[in-house]
Amino acid sequence: MTILNEIRTVGVVGAGQMGNGIAHVCALAGYDVLLNDAAEGAIDQAIETIEHNMHRQVGRGFIKDDDMRAAMGRIKRAPSLKDFGACDMAIESAIENEDVKKKIFADLSPVLGANAILATNTSSISITRLAATTDRPDKFIGVHFMNPAPVMKLVELVRGLATSQDTYNTSLRFVESLGKTIANAEDFPAFIVNRVLVPMINEAVYTLYEGVGSVEAIDKAMRLGANHPMGPLELADFIGLDTCLAIMQVLNEGLADTKYRPCPLLVKYVEAGWLGRKSDRGFYDYRTDPPTPTR
Ligand code: NAD
Repeated sequence: MTILNEIRTVGVVGAGQMGNGIAHVCALAGYDVLLNDAAEGAIDQAIETIEHNMHRQVGRGFIKDDDMRAAMGRIKRAPSLKDFGACDMAIESAIENEDVKKKIFADLSPVLGANAILATNTSSISITRLAATTDRPDKFIGVHFMNPAPVMKLVELVRGLATSQDTYNTSLRFVESLGKTIANAEDFPAFIVNRVLVPMINEAVYTLYEGVGSVEAIDKAMRLGANHPMGPLELADFIGLDTCLAIMQVLNEGLADTKYRPCPLLVKYVEAGWLGRKSDRGFYDYRTDPPTPTR
């Protein structure tokens, strides 16, 4: 794989489960990476996670030890967005909250060079609307990675109304240089993958809420009955219940169809701070091995 000439340095804003995966993939492909997060200690924790995950890839023979060391050397901490001046592409991957994302773009735009591409990893929010709040709607695009980014092959590319052909072409070649395959999605709420996947997860939570099945029964039924590699509740914990809820809210508001009503039980889990794997508890409790269903 060869990196693009016009993109040498990639900035990643938000070093959570997706941001660290995106930084991982970009650094392994040969890009210099700047990693930012607003939370205390989050960048260091992300770098530890990336190193741990790359070690696993070395152990499985997917990459060489030298590749890992070179890639880790390309990742730099960027505690402030002011450090993003050298970025040719910035990928925003902070929490799924429109106001938070808009504030990041407002802070980032004046720092970036005039030709830099501004991308977002949003799972559901309108690319056109986010782009319109920036100084570069023509250089703004949705680059939606799947979780976990180092493993999953697909990236959805989503053009806003104003995204230029040049921005699309460069982003397409950039994503391909990461060894990923793209699917083009139009800019409608939750795009393709999450438009189909997250309502299915929400329905699984309704199935639990109405007592049709237990956590274990629902997951087992979908694994063995529909041949899904993971049950929907296990998958919801993996995605993050806050992210699942945010996507349902975007679908509900954006498409104004009651079939997208978020399940009250999903809301309750998020209100409890039981967000899934990332907070050690969701539909399963991950502090035990194997994880224990919480209902
Ligand atoms: P996460 O909760 O693991 O990480 C979010 C990170 O953003 C946290 O580390 C938080 O500290 C940081 N953050 C919050 N406000 C910030 C700010 N103002 N500046 C910088 N950092 C800030 O969430 P995640 O799962 O990594 O999701 C991130 C984005 O990726 C969301 O838009 C989500 O919809 C999208 N996404 C998620 C998945 C998934 O399966 N979880 C898949 C594809 C895309």
